[in-house]
Amino acid sequence: MSDLIRLLPDHIANQIAAGEVVQRPASVIKELVENCIDAGATKIDIVIKDAGRTLIQVTDNGKGMSPVDARMAFERHATSKIQAAEDLYALTTKGFRGEALASIAAVAQVTLKTKRPGDDFGTSIQIEANKIIQQEPVQCAEGASFEVKNLFYNIPARRNFLKSDNIEFKHIIDDVERVALAHPDIAFRLIHNEQEIYNLFAVPLRKRIVDVFGKNYSDKLVPVNEVTDIVRIEGFVCKPEAARKTRGEQFFFVNNRFFRDNYFNHAVSAAFEDILPPKHFPTYFLFFEVDPKHIDVNVHPTKTEIKFEEDKAIYSILRSTVMAALGKYNIKPTLDFERETSFDVPAEIRNQPAVEPVIRVNPFYNPFEAPSTGHSRNNSNASGKAFTSALHNQGFGASGSSGFQGFWSGDMDELPEITTESEQQELHEKLSRPTGPFLRKGHLVLCSVEEGLMVIHFQRANEKLLYERSMTNFMYQPLESQQLLFPLTKTCGMQDKLVWENHKNLLERVGFQWTWNEVEMEISGIPSLLNEQSIHLAIDMLLERFQMGEIDAGEIVHVIIDLIARAASNVRIQSMNESEIEQFIEHYFELDNVMFTAKGKKIIGIISNQQLLNVL
Ligand code: ADP
Ligand code: MG
Repeated sequence: MSDLIRLLPDHIANQIAAGEVVQRPASVIKELVENCIDAGATKIDIVIKDAGRTLIQVTDNGKGMSPVDARMAFERHATSKIQAAEDLYALTTKGFRGEALASIAAVAQVTLKTKRPGDDFGTSIQIEANKIIQQEPVQCAEGASFEVKNLFYNIPARRNFLKSDNIEFKHIIDDVERVALAHPDIAFRLIHNEQEIYNLFAVPLRKRIVDVFGKNYSDKLVPVNEVTDIVRIEGFVCKPEAARKTRGEQFFFVNNRFFRDNYFNHAVSAAFEDILPPKHFPTYFLFFEVDPKHIDVNVHPTKTEIKFEEDKAIYSILRSTVMAALGKYNIKPTLDFERETSFDVPAEIRNQPAVEPVIRVNPFYNPFEAPSTGHSRNNSNASGKAFTSALHNQGFGASGSSGFQGFWSGDMDELPEITTESEQQELHEKLSRPTGPFLRKGHLVLCSVEEGLMVIHFQRANEKLLYERSMTNFMYQPLESQQLLFPLTKTCGMQDKLVWENHKNLLERVGFQWTWNEVEMEISGIPSLLNEQSIHLAIDMLLERFQMGEIDAGEIVHVIIDLIARAASNVRIQSMNESEIEQFIEHYFELDNVMFTAKGKKIIGIISNQQLLNVL
């Protein structure tokens, strides 16, 4: 029997290697841009079509290549960056494996035009599946320009594996963001389908962060700075109010290379302990400088993990540095964590002399008889519109001053466990309709009913009412849009802009109207449920939900209305007078099920007459 082992032909070996390096259009861009940086470029232009599927062009003004180097660059393991094995341990460049160009050329049609400064002519090389199709001298600009067409044209399986353009483009933005942050001294331009996405000039880091993520960051960045023998740490953390509910903007770089690290992330989070709202993540842009001898980047080419020799020491330096930065800039919680607990009695009642309570027992009360509340529970749609405008006229809409805090601390203390669930259900059936007077205690409304003392969780009730009304309305027609006299501007990041545009149709249907001025959103119409103060909060909440991942149309409608209702229900009961509360209760009790929120939290509880008597 003859021998079986054979060496793989080059083009197959390259395709296999390409599988590791080139996973998607974003990885091509990352590799090409890193090469530009290694070549000393000060300006990098990225032009793509169809999220990089059909065209990726990366042009720099770096040191260029000679005709021979231009050819060599596409060979596997061809690199100008290391010469001896020791070099591997003192890397200051991004690349070193000499694999990227060979891999890209194995799975796409590539044209390179390059010229060294001072040369009369440049070189043009055309390569397909690692075969040189053409090489000739050309007139071209100094630097290098790579054009990568029809990625995976020769591997249909890989091509079909690519996600939607939106998702692929999001990966590209992720990578461009990272490299743009790591190199604020380099100018970057990104153009997608002829539309300019970024045009970033060389600026200091702080300005670069603001250019990439929006103006609202400019007064939220707290500088971090520490030099030790082991590590030098520089960069910015954001004030607690810029914290996000998704792990959006968290960036670590070591020697200007982006990396992820849960352990160091924990160190930063620990420094923020007690000053962040629950379930929020700090935003940070932190740059480490470490002697390359003491880190290992020689892991998987596309991986973003890095091994640090002295990770424990760096952990504690990082933690105390961030704490010191927050302390130095006097960052105290700007959010009010204390909830109102005082017994909040309306003024009219507070000034009345205390009257000894009298228990009245209704001898004719029959628990098996349906309550005669005189209210139909199915007329919600008819009154929905009227109620919507009533919200604004009467101040039930979100109030600006109560702001953010009322919402996220929405997970308030549970109501005291006073009845079992089956008792609750039974009670719902025969619940008497509360009439005034209403007492406020913190966020609760108390009132006397036939069965005893009714306790209503105001915020949950308000949220439920808004949700139910909007949902019913939405089923029949788009939500009303309220035109703004003066458009509002909201600064977003590029990511935000993308996800917002992805949900354009539905957002329009719930009443948003907007145009873009780069990453500034100019809002001309808002859902009529919201007011101008709550719009920023609502948009942030929507963006956070969208950022968490793809959601389908049905879910979006739910989320939007749920979020709008939550933002709009961010009303402090303290700001309402007694007749407003009365009116609110009346509307609320028209709903089908008043006892629980959609998620099963209790909205109403009854302390029975018997229990009240037992108190004494
Ligand atoms: P590596 O970056 O690991 O060296 P690559 O395959 O990415 O490997 O690139 C191979 C070589 O091609 C580089 O070492 C460099 O000499 C040259 N090269 C690639 N891109 C550029 C560029 N934009 N400008 C100048 N030289 C480049
Ligand atoms: Mg490289």
